[in-house]
Amino acid sequence: STPQQVHYNTEAIQAMDTAHYLHPFTNFKALANRGAQVIVEAQDIYLWDSQGKRILDGMAGLWCVNVGYGRKSISDAVYTQMQQLPFYNSFFNTTNIPAVELAKALVEISPPQFKHVFFTGSGSEANDTNLRMVRRYWDLLGYSERHVIISRHNAYHGSTVAGASLGGMSAMHAQGSLPIPGIVHIGQPYYLEGGKGLTQDEFGLKAASWLEDKILEVGADQVAAFIAEPLQGAGGVIIPPATYWPEIQRICSKYDILLIVDEVICGFGRVGCWFGSEHFEIKADLMTFAKGVTSGYLPLGGVMVGDKVAQVLIEKGGDFNHGFTYSGHPVACAAALENIRILREEKIIEQVRDETGPYLKQGFDSLLDHPLVGMVDTCGFLAALVLVKEKAENIFDMQMFPKDLGVGQICRDHMFKHGMIMRAVGNRMIVSPPLTMTIAQIDEMIA
Ligand code: PLP
Repeated sequence: STPQQVHYNTEAIQAMDTAHYLHPFTNFKALANRGAQVIVEAQDIYLWDSQGKRILDGMAGLWCVNVGYGRKSISDAVYTQMQQLPFYNSFFNTTNIPAVELAKALVEISPPQFKHVFFTGSGSEANDTNLRMVRRYWDLLGYSERHVIISRHNAYHGSTVAGASLGGMSAMHAQGSLPIPGIVHIGQPYYLEGGKGLTQDEFGLKAASWLEDKILEVGADQVAAFIAEPLQGAGGVIIPPATYWPEIQRICSKYDILLIVDEVICGFGRVGCWFGSEHFEIKADLMTFAKGVTSGYLPLGGVMVGDKVAQVLIEKGGDFNHGFTYSGHPVACAAALENIRILREEKIIEQVRDETGPYLKQGFDSLLDHPLVGMVDTCGFLAALVLVKEKAENIFDMQMFPKDLGVGQICRDHMFKHGMIMRAVGNRMIVSPPLTMTIAQIDEMIA
């Protein structure tokens, strides 16, 4: 169905936007010169802008609108909850029913070691929570010196001071004197960048060995935790070789280092199972989630806390001096409950695993016939293609475009102009569509 066409005064909206609104991750002056595209409505996998143009959203918003746009049952659940109890906090010996029910639902769908949840308002806040929780855990066990957290270059763990420090984005570190002390980084498992002369499996082991090197450099008795996304999303959909995660797991166990898995993108069906941990067989101690928990309909995030950490925090912890006004917000939790019900009852994740995910892979693989597409990576409903200047038989012999040409951004802008949203990360073009995308819609996207 096409949303009704309303007349919007685009120029006036853009002028107000420029005058008052500082957008996230944006060059303010450049945006003022070009004017933001005003998005006014959405249905299913499509957006409409203020001039009536339809756009296929290949990114599900920001990797989050997993059940697609326009779900009336989510807005009904939100409306009903707002009428009954729009807000009350859970700080001072109170709770609310949607938060309790959501905690139970999350435990049911998470790997079995997770029986507790700490709610936040976003993925960034959830990773801040991780940082405080793992340090608190070691403090309580009498190992206060274990405070260093190891992360990876090009990881994305959020935009708060701790989140951006845990992340490995050099452009973010360059602003605001980051990372904060006690956070160090190792290389990412990106075969194309570091795997020359090695098989994928050999490279996976090599990239995992950087964790052991760093632990030994810092001193195992100083390290609290290792944090990583199952696959790096915002870093460009970097899928690690099959040998990587088992070796990371072995190293964490060997040195008794807590493993934090950041499932903000991979969670809630994105890779064809509830969490990326299932796909990569990761057994983590803490698990960050956000985005897909509400399909982005309302802000919500949190940390699933594994038994090992939860027992110490509960039994020995006393007060945990951390939390947010919106932790366990009843309306956001009501949206999440309905979102999870939809994912379950419509068997959307099974569909991605068995049918539409493999079809998306086939579609992306077919793009390898294009002279500018050198490589394709897919995992569930995440896909990336690498734009190259000159293809070659061996991927390491391909000629890349110069970085400063911004070829990804040129391609992204071109796609946007022609009615489709993709994300550009350097020369990698990404899609992460709503999980409800049909076979016919995949054909449309690929075309
Ligand atoms: N962690 C990962 C893996 C993410 O991709 C993101 C956001 O893209 C975050 C954390 C931060 O989440 P938020 O933007 O909700 O703070």
